[in-house]
Amino acid sequence: MVIVMKKSCNRQEIDAVIAMLERCGMGANLSTGAQTTVIGVLGDKTKLEGLNLELMDGVEKCVPIMHSYKLASHEMCPEGRTVTVGGEVIGGKKLCMMAGPCAVESEEQVLEAAQGVRAAGAGFLRGGAYKPRTSPYAFQGMEDEGYRLLRRAADATGLKVISEVVSHDQIDLAGKYCDMLQVGARNMQNFRLLREIGKSGIPVLLKRGIASTVEEWLDAAEYIMSEGNYNVVLCERGIRTFETATRNTLDVSAVPVVRERSSLPVLIDPSHAAGKARYVEPLALAGIAAGADGLIIEVHPNPKVAMSDAAQQLTIPDYGRLVQRAGAVAQALGRTL
Ligand code: PEP
Ligand code: MN
Repeated sequence: MVIVMKKSCNRQEIDAVIAMLERCGMGANLSTGAQTTVIGVLGDKTKLEGLNLELMDGVEKCVPIMHSYKLASHEMCPEGRTVTVGGEVIGGKKLCMMAGPCAVESEEQVLEAAQGVRAAGAGFLRGGAYKPRTSPYAFQGMEDEGYRLLRRAADATGLKVISEVVSHDQIDLAGKYCDMLQVGARNMQNFRLLREIGKSGIPVLLKRGIASTVEEWLDAAEYIMSEGNYNVVLCERGIRTFETATRNTLDVSAVPVVRERSSLPVLIDPSHAAGKARYVEPLALAGIAAGADGLIIEVHPNPKVAMSDAAQQLTIPDYGRLVQRAGAVAQALGRTL
């Protein structure tokens, strides 16, 4: 349930409502926006039976939240949430651009990628250090050394680092080198991982599972938020359908659905959806047109020799062209790059 306060409410009235909830053993989540002040009620709402919260001073109305996710819901923060990572705001007017190789392969490769995507306008360097591969015989990543190389390349070029953690015991080390963690599609329902990232407070990009509904995805976000970490950004990366012409099917419709149901920013990953480099740009533009808050794209200095996802990685010049065109679409929508 959320308690919507009157426009004219004052701080004492807000505090009185919060104190009442806390006396009943409930949690309160205050969200103050330019238009509305809402207090999210967390916990077992049967404890509130018999309390006429609607009659308290300053209260406009009480609205039930019908979903299993609460903190991630639109109702809890109607103004929308933004996530700030080292000065970069995700979810505002400016789109967030993340780019880099699928996997960190060597110091030279990651530095060249970082220089290229930085020159094209990216704010974040991506690159997998731990790779969740479908086959146990495929390249599994450079592991901890990969995080170190990413950090060095990002510091040399003025970028932020985002990289995946595949297990909860990597969070501490990853947190030393990365500005933002990624939970990959295969781990979207690794609840232990989600909870531990929640406890860490480190900003996180939560990819949608390959066969997960929007509701399951938002429930996964709720796991992180319920531990106190609200720095969650969603990422649509394609879902598995009957279609085989592309690696996955980019669910562009998930963008407006998520924007309606949730307060969290959402990015598009057209690379893992397309599976082929030539489809990446049109999907990226479609994602922005649908209202996404940015893009995460695989870019490799020489995709032909990439050790993972070679077919879908863009060259640096192709990424530069994509960013230019993305800028035009953003501008048409009143947003910037
Ligand atoms: C990746 O970003 O490299 C990756 C493995 O993505 P996903 O989890 O979406 O497959
Ligand atoms: Mn990849």
